[in-house]
This record gives sequence, structure tokens and C-alpha cells, in this order.
Amino acid sequence: MIDLRSDTITKPTPAMKEAMMAAPVGDDVFGEDPTINALEQKAADYFGMESAIFCPSGTMTNQIAIRVHTAPHTEVICDEKSHIYLYEGGGIAYNSFASVRLLHGDRGRITAEMIQDNINNPDDVHAPISTLVSLENTMNKGGGCVYDFKEIEKISTLCKEKKLKLHLDGARLFNALVATNDDPKQYGKHFDSISICLSKGLGCPVGSLLLGTKVDIKKARRVRKVLGGGMRQAGFLAAAGIYALDHHINRLADDHDRAKKIANALEDLSFVDSVLPVETNIVIFKLANNGLSVDFVEKLKQHGILAVPFGKHDVRFVTHLDFDDDMLQDLILKLKTI
Ligand SMILES: *Cc1c(COP(=O)(O)O)cnc(C)c1O
Repeated sequence: MIDLRSDTITKPTPAMKEAMMAAPVGDDVFGEDPTINALEQKAADYFGMESAIFCPSGTMTNQIAIRVHTAPHTEVICDEKSHIYLYEGGGIAYNSFASVRLLHGDRGRITAEMIQDNINNPDDVHAPISTLVSLENTMNKGGGCVYDFKEIEKISTLCKEKKLKLHLDGARLFNALVATNDDPKQYGKHFDSISICLSKGLGCPVGSLLLGTKVDIKKARRVRKVLGGGMRQAGFLAAAGIYALDHHINRLADDHDRAKKIANALEDLSFVDSVLPVETNIVIFKLANNGLSVDFVEKLKQHGILAVPFGKHDVRFVTHLDFDDDMLQDLILKLKTI
């Protein structure tokens, strides 16, 4: 089976496993796991941020950030395709009692102008108080597209002027950094908090980090505890993260190359109507003749290919660490026989 359902399906490499088994550990709820402490420091330094907290999932890091930045009666501004809105079980309402303002961006990327037009008048008692803007980079539902950093600068300037907090769902931020060569420290400078996933392109079995100021991350530790996310000797998992930050970032360029090659092959096939432009490791294509994605994914499975339906007529492939050039060749041959 060629498994392109997600970049979360990767297994730790032998070298990563070795690093995991050798990790010194302690009780992280007491702040005594040396490997987790080292990972948090390393990730914060990478983005030039003050502090970080290791969590079981990216849903948890996003939800903690939203909880820290909002209060009941307030509103989060984000794109309608955002993971925080679509795929986190309604957590914004459930965990934070906050409202959401959904914008219609360009494949999920919103602009400073759009945000400006959707900030509520703080003196109008009818409206929730706008408090947080959340961006996603790369944008999953937008086909892994990347923000132009100039727009992020404009958004950050607006947020400072309007006293809004700015959060980044950076589940695939390393893909964006590799695709653009943007400086990670610029991200640290412009966002109040950043969530990054180790369990996606970086190939770790488990884990995400929330980065932010010392004050916010201290609050985050309290929220993580109440959500049941305080882990104990989880340094074994953090060691995979340290290994991945050292060895698995630059290789993301290979995933991007392979995704582009898949997209090129798809363009010529009769069952494809169109393919979203590929910027990173995600390929989303629309089926010709209003073909149904659930049926097509079933057909792919019979040909030894796993993918996910991503809309009624859309199918998603994600390239990752466990998908190599031989599999790519095999995939393209198989696609041609469908
Ligand atoms: C995967 C993902 C997350 C976090 O997902 P978890 O499975 O909870 O780790 C958050 N945002 C985006 C855009 C994602 O793709």
C-alpha cells in the first residue's frame, strides 16, 4: 500500500528510536523532565520566542492558545477553512466560550484588510469583543499553500494597533519555512503564539509545541493540566522532537518535490478535472465529471493507494518521510492504469 492519507502516518526511523530510548527523563508535571525542558528551549530559541510547552497534540496547543488569549464574550477571527474551526470539534466554543468570525480568504489565507473590516466596535454591546486573530501556515484545506510574509507583517501591525492577539497554527510551519526560506525568528517576532506539530512532516510519533511569552506559557501550563495534557516521563517523545529538529527539517524539500511530481502526473489524467497549485507537501485535486471522492478513494484503495476524500469531489494526497522516489514511480504508474 502507498499511504498518502496524511503526513501523520510516518513511523520513527531507527536513528530516531535510538535517540528516544537513550533520553534522560523525569516527571514533566513537576518540570523535571530534562529532555522535555531541552526540547521546549530548543524550539523557543529556533523561533526567537521566550518559552514553549510540549503537548500531546496540535489540537491541544491551538486550543490552549485560544483559551489563553480569549475570554467569554470575545471573538476569534479566522478563515472559514481553518483547522481550529473545522477540525477541532467545536473546541473554541467548548473550551473557551468564545465566538468565531469566519472570513473567506484566498485558499484559506486572509489579509490585513479583511481582518480590519471584521473587527467589532468595542463600544457596541451587541457584538462580541474581537480579541484574537488566528492564521494557519501552511494552509491544509487550501492545498498546503503558504502565506507571503509581507501580508503577515501587515496583519501583525494591524493587530498591535487594534490590541488583538495574533496566533499561528503552524502544524506545517516547517514546510512553509523550507518552501520560502523565510526566517523563523521573524515568525517569533510577529506572532504572540505559535503552535508547531512534530507529528506531521517532521516524522515524530507524537507531540506538538506551543511557543509564546513566559507569561502566556505559564498560563498555558495551567490550561494543559485542566485538559488532562500534563504528561509525566514523556521525555522519550520529546527526544524524537529534538532529533527531528536536528535532522528532518531540510529534507522536507524532497516531500515538496515529490508532491509537485504527483501534481504534474495528475494534470494529464482523464479522471482529474483540476489540481490546486502545489507549494509544499499537499496535493488536492478535483475529479472530472463530478466524480464522488468517497467512491474514487475506494477505487484507489483497490489499486494499492490510500488517500482521503477532501470535499465532495476533491481528493487529498500528502507526501511524507515514509514516501520515497521508488514509491513515487510506482504511484505514477498505478495512477495511469486507473
Ligand atoms: C494536524 C493539524 C493540527 C493538529 O492536529 P492534531 O492531530 O491534533 O495534532 C492543527 N492544525 C492543522 C492545520 C493540522 O493540519
